[in-house]
Amino acid sequence: MRLRPLVLFAAMLLSGSAAFAATPVLVIHGGAGVLRADLTPETEALVRADLEAALAAGYGVLKDGGSSLDAVGKAIVVLEDSPRFNAGKGAVFTHDGRNELDAAIMDGATLRAGAIAGVHRIKNPVLLARAVMDKSPHVLMVGDGAEAFAQGVGFELVDPGYFRTERRWRQLQEVLGKEAAGQQSSLGRMVHYGTVGAVALDRAGHLAAATSTGGMTNKRYGRVGDSPIIGAGTYANAHCAVSGTGWGEYYIRSVAAHEICARVAWGKQSLAKAADAVIMQVIPKLGGDGGAIALDAQGNIAMPFNTDGMYRGWVGKDGKPHVAILKD
Ligand code: ASP
Repeated sequence: MRLRPLVLFAAMLLSGSAAFAATPVLVIHGGAGVLRADLTPETEALVRADLEAALAAGYGVLKDGGSSLDAVGKAIVVLEDSPRFNAGKGAVFTHDGRNELDAAIMDGATLRAGAIAGVHRIKNPVLLARAVMDKSPHVLMVGDGAEAFAQGVGFELVDPGYFRTERRWRQLQEVLGKEAAGQQSSLGRMVHYGTVGAVALDRAGHLAAATSTGGMTNKRYGRVGDSPIIGAGTYANAHCAVSGTGWGEYYIRSVAAHEICARVAWGKQSLAKAADAVIMQVIPKLGGDGGAIALDAQGNIAMPFNTDGMYRGWVGKDGKPHVAILKD
């Protein structure tokens, strides 16, 4: 028995793992589309409970010595199953009244990644992204092809009506009404961002990132945002893991998630500085908005956003769950 720690230590040295028995860390977000005025005490209590449940699910994996990949998947499934976030049940509607879901997952230790876009019948898109990574030679699969692949690897398809919530339907009608009155562009600032994401560091010192979304209210049929685009809305390597939320077109154009990690790895910037530069400067300068969660291999966390608020939660080195919504 006493040999076990020694054997583990030797294995870590041989595998070249930088961080022996790292303290696990998990960070999650539920979107940067929080409007201060819309945040009733009831909504806040429900959202906090969801975020806490997602932290408990994901951190449970890490505490038991599980992988960061499994942890981000577990946390995201909880948020996808809640109707309060723009992912899985509760996803926003496209212009023509459908729910089109995108998701991605990435393993920082191996740079393996899986992603899906434009699916209508997958209850937990993050699990299909994981299956693309684990069970196909591909990285990104879309639409009917992704759903056919899902069936082939044992997923049950759900009725597209599963994703419908009245709140999201009303939001689409509001935006369509404004668009008809010429008050709003077809896609724009703060249109109900509620994407969910997670980044984690496991005991082996490995990072992972995952993101899941319904995209943006009133998006056109076939529009794909940043969340399933590796490097834009989701990225993880040995140094850093990022999940973004916001106006996806700008995250794609600035390759936001990879840009943060590149600044950490090659630019030698601190995680906080790198994440701040991209979210508070690069994206707003282009005309976009949103936020991101980021985590480095030392367990440092950054959660910048340039909107009113970002639903977020974390279990840091103190091992305790924290949840925050607005700037403070
Ligand atoms: N980033 C997502 C997209 O553009 C939207 C969001 O964050 O809610 O698809």
